[in-house]
Amino acid sequence: MSENLRISGCIADSIVDGPGMRFVVFVQGCPHHCPGCHNPQTHDFAGGYLADPEKIVKQVKADPLMSGVTFSGGEPFCQAKVLCELGRKIRELGKNIVVYSGYTYEQLLKKGESEPEVLELLRLCDLLVDGPFIQEQRDLSLQFRGSRNQRLINLKKMREQDTWELIERPEG
Ligand code: SF4
Repeated sequence: MSENLRISGCIADSIVDGPGMRFVVFVQGCPHHCPGCHNPQTHDFAGGYLADPEKIVKQVKADPLMSGVTFSGGEPFCQAKVLCELGRKIRELGKNIVVYSGYTYEQLLKKGESEPEVLELLRLCDLLVDGPFIQEQRDLSLQFRGSRNQRLINLKKMREQDTWELIERPEG
């Protein structure tokens, strides 16, 4: 792989960032600045540290109990190109991918008109949790999400049906 990924850190055993046991990569840099954000240390685009994506692949490969990998943040779609490279390797391992974004799905499609890697990343992932965290809509009962505006979008089904038309995934 050519480029490094700027990250804030990784967690190897999360059960709250998508289905099953997950390896979570918190990317560094976020333009959204949602009030009440739980990860404010991830906002600075010059913060965090550079990580070799190959090392992340090795860590994921080393644990057969891992269901998949989650790209969280920070804003993953600000580093879409390098995450596509990493995502392809993770898919080769047979693991699924969850991606979080402070952009809505519709905003990502628009962004993808000038940045094809954004669309490529959407096609590689299986589940998208979209939209900013909105404090007034905070709800602790939601699965994998912080506020009611955020949606669980079934990218896997959309990929299989070869459509960009949004298909939401029910909880569970
Ligand atoms: S998009 Fe996520 S990381 Fe960025 S400010 Fe909002 S809640 Fe925080």
